Amino acid sequence: MLNQVADGVWVRQSEWVWSNSIVVRGEDGLVLVDPGIDGSELNELADDVDRLGIPVVAGFATHLHWDHLLWHSRFGDVPRYATAACADAAGAVRERAQAMAAESASGIPLELIGLVTPLPADGGPVPGELVEHEAHAIGHAAVLLADRGVLLAGDMLSDVLVPMLDPRRPNQLDAYEAALDRLGEAAQQVDVVVPGHGSVAEGSEVAARLAADRAYIGALRRGEEPVDARWGPRG
Ligand SMILES: [Zn+2]
Repeated sequence: MLNQVADGVWVRQSEWVWSNSIVVRGEDGLVLVDPGIDGSELNELADDVDRLGIPVVAGFATHLHWDHLLWHSRFGDVPRYATAACADAAGAVRERAQAMAAESASGIPLELIGLVTPLPADGGPVPGELVEHEAHAIGHAAVLLADRGVLLAGDMLSDVLVPMLDPRRPNQLDAYEAALDRLGEAAQQVDVVVPGHGSVAEGSEVAARLAADRAYIGALRRGEEPVDARWGPRG
C-alpha cells in the first residue's frame, strides 16, 4: 500500500528490513526511487502505481547496494538513473548484487538489477536536487524535494539501522560526518525525511535522526562502542 507523505510523494514499506519504495510525481510522470523488495511486492507496487494513473517515466537508485538497484518489467523500459559515480561502479557490482538478491528475497527479476545510467546534469525527469556524498556507498545521493518539504535520504537517517560505513574505502568517519552536515543543511528545508529503511520522520523527529547518527559516529570517533538501540553490526 502506498502512503502519501507529502504532495506527490508516496511510500510503500516492505517487511524486508523495513525497506521503503518511494514514488515521486515529477513534471513528466512518476519516478520510482529504490523500488523493492521481493517479486510480489514489486508486483503490488506496480498495481499501486497503476492506480495512480500516471505513467512511470524513470527510476532512481540512491546507491549501488543490491536492495536499491531493483526493478520490475511492469514499471516499464524507462531510464533508471543514479549519480555518475554510482552508475560507473554499478556494472562491477551487478553480479554480486544479483547473487545477494537471489539469496535474500524471492521473485526478484534478477536480469533487471543494477541497470542504471548517470542522471543528466539538469536532473532529467527526476524532480528536486541531489545531495551527493561519500558516506555508506560510492556515489550515494539523497533527493531533496524542497518544494514538497521532503528529503529522500537513502541509507542514512534511519530509525531502525545504525549508520553503516563503507568498509572498502578510507576515511569513512570523515565522509560520514561530512554527509551528515550536508543532509543537515538539506533537512532545514524539509518537514519530512524518508529513509531507505525504517519509518518516515516528520517534524522534530528529523533533527532527532540527525542527532542519533551524529552521536553514533562521534562514539566511533572517540573509539567507544556506540550505545544505540538500532540494528546493525554494533547495534
Ligand atoms: Zn545500502
